[in-house]
Amino acid sequence: MKNIVLFGAPGVGKGTHANILAEKYDLIHLSTGDMLRAEIEAGTPLGKRVETAMERGDLVGDDVVIGLVDKALASTDQGVILDGFPRTVQQAQALDFLFANHRRRMDCVISIDAPREELVRRIHERALISGRTDDANDDTIRHRLEEYDAKTKPVTDYYKVSGLLVSIDGSGEINQTSMRLCKVVDILMNRGK
Ligand code: ADP
Repeated sequence: MKNIVLFGAPGVGKGTHANILAEKYDLIHLSTGDMLRAEIEAGTPLGKRVETAMERGDLVGDDVVIGLVDKALASTDQGVILDGFPRTVQQAQALDFLFANHRRRMDCVISIDAPREELVRRIHERALISGRTDDANDDTIRHRLEEYDAKTKPVTDYYKVSGLLVSIDGSGEINQTSMRLCKVVDILMNRGK
């Protein structure tokens, strides 16, 4: 059973590629952004608590997302691909505990990289179809990228130290990035077989 984190800035394509990889390698795709949007959509108390932060482009509280991931990990015995989590060093530390509690091992953290102007271009493009209010406002987009630089980028150092981090170029077309990702995941899948 393989457990993978897909890491990267807003707009880099984590959701798209997590979907492709989940399908190809029979992994469960766990997106904290999707989980939070589902809570808002369903009008749950948790959804009401996070709605304003998400609309502003702030990260929501660590405890909230850690709780959601804990619940999701408890609900399956399959390998998982995490998209949008961990996003702070505290979440990364919590994930180590969660994996240990759920008898899982972290196999790899794959960072997808792309230049800032390309991220902004993709978020604008996605705004036309996503209906996401946080994709439609330039100030919110800027703020999400600031949150990424300040709180999420340091997570790469956490995984560099443990030797789990692999970075791939995600600046090109979807199928180019997909091929690069599959090369990494193929190796993981064949390891320890
Ligand atoms: P993107 O990667 O384009 O920002 P996501 O769907 O991953 O899209 O996240 C959307 C929003 O959901 C974030 O801006 C943040 O408010 C919230 N969010 C998602 N995942 C997390 C997380 N792990 N920690 C804190 N907030 C999160």
